[in-house]
Amino acid sequence: MRSGIINLQNCHSIAIMGGTFDPIHNGHLVTAEAVRHRFKVDKVIFMPTGNPAHKTNKKVTHHEHRYLMTVLATMRNEDFDVSRIEIDRPGITYTIDTIEELKRQCRPDVRLYFITGADAIHQIFTWKDPEKLLTLCDFVAVTRPGYKKNTLFEEIGEIQEKFASRIHYMEVPALAISSSDIRKRIQNNAPIKYLVPQAVEDYIQKFELYVDEMEKEVKFVLSIDTMKEKLQSALSIKRYIHTMAVIDEAIKLAEIYGSQQDRQKAEVAALLHDCAKNYPEDLKLRLCKEYHIDLDDIMKAQTDLIHPFLGAEIAKREYLVDDEEILGAIRYHTTGKANMTLLEKIIFIADFIEPSRDSFEGLDEARRLAYLDLDMAMRYILEQTIAFVKKRDLQLHSLSVEALDYYKSK
Ligand code: NAP
Repeated sequence: MRSGIINLQNCHSIAIMGGTFDPIHNGHLVTAEAVRHRFKVDKVIFMPTGNPAHKTNKKVTHHEHRYLMTVLATMRNEDFDVSRIEIDRPGITYTIDTIEELKRQCRPDVRLYFITGADAIHQIFTWKDPEKLLTLCDFVAVTRPGYKKNTLFEEIGEIQEKFASRIHYMEVPALAISSSDIRKRIQNNAPIKYLVPQAVEDYIQKFELYVDEMEKEVKFVLSIDTMKEKLQSALSIKRYIHTMAVIDEAIKLAEIYGSQQDRQKAEVAALLHDCAKNYPEDLKLRLCKEYHIDLDDIMKAQTDLIHPFLGAEIAKREYLVDDEEILGAIRYHTTGKANMTLLEKIIFIADFIEPSRDSFEGLDEARRLAYLDLDMAMRYILEQTIAFVKKRDLQLHSLSVEALDYYKSK
């Protein structure tokens, strides 16, 4: 029975496999089986920790994930069980509370063995009620190959003398596998196959455990292909070709300056940056009213400045994109603004330097700077844009002025 209440009345001896199991791995399973065989116990109960006493400052994966992975890992062995005692008990997890609870559920003459890493056991005198603990159960200190046992034996003379017969050592070669190594492998995209049971690997993959937040895949309601199809009918051919070129440029910049997540977001922001550009003017004005987009005097006078602000709203409503970073990159891709995010800068710059643009003065320098330093490129492009606006006797938007002041001061 895989619950907090396992029937232990028929067991004469039980091993408790205590650990964080973040995640559980084949080394743990081999250890449990080796202990079961050596001490002839009737059952091994895996006991994932709840709020470990010694790890209150460390980031530990949510206990339900650790518990479920332990259940998946042990389900094919009928001598193994998993207990929720520690994860269901509120407050800090102390082993003494667990052993006392188990004792209450067992026959009075039951023999208990607590298995855990030798490092943890050697600090047993820092645990709660260590002496009582050592009278209630035996300890199996498992070590990895190459573990310096002798130094540790000296350090724990106190335990050796008083409780020598209560502590057993076992070297388990399979413990060359470690949870911290598995977490590192996942972050480095290295395989974990055969280090954890397949079901645990699948579980880790499904819930994207141990993956760097910035490397996690961003999920969109519509696929990129569906968004492209929809966009094609909203843009002129010329604008669509420009959009495809902005995507290529934005992806290149994101690959250089950002994470995997930035790359994905850059693709969608670039795809949708001009989604409202070819809307007829009366439709643009009507939608702005409907969506409560405030138009200032400059936007009213130069209606081309409306499309980025309306575009962000269309991306949200029509293309079902709710990522604020992407929406910001669409919203400010024409005017810019002070202190832009990485994605906002990438889209602003990619829009200016994309390869399908006809050559004009300053384009080569902007392209050079974009691959040298994004802030320098921002300043240069803003200067070029402002000069162009002035030359044409157009009005400058205050956001662009603020943006240039900001990037000049950097
Ligand atoms: P840990 O710091 O996560 O583990 C220390 C080392 O031992 C790691 O290298 C770990 O390898 C290994 N290890 C841990 N459990 C193992 C097991 N069952 N079999 C083989 N190797 C194991 O220590 P922990 O896992 O959090 O704590 C171990 C147990 O001691 C837990 O049940 C915990 O509640 C208990 N404990 C109690 C107290 C207290 O009552 N005050 C204080 C400390 C610990 P992996 O990373 O590969 O697992």
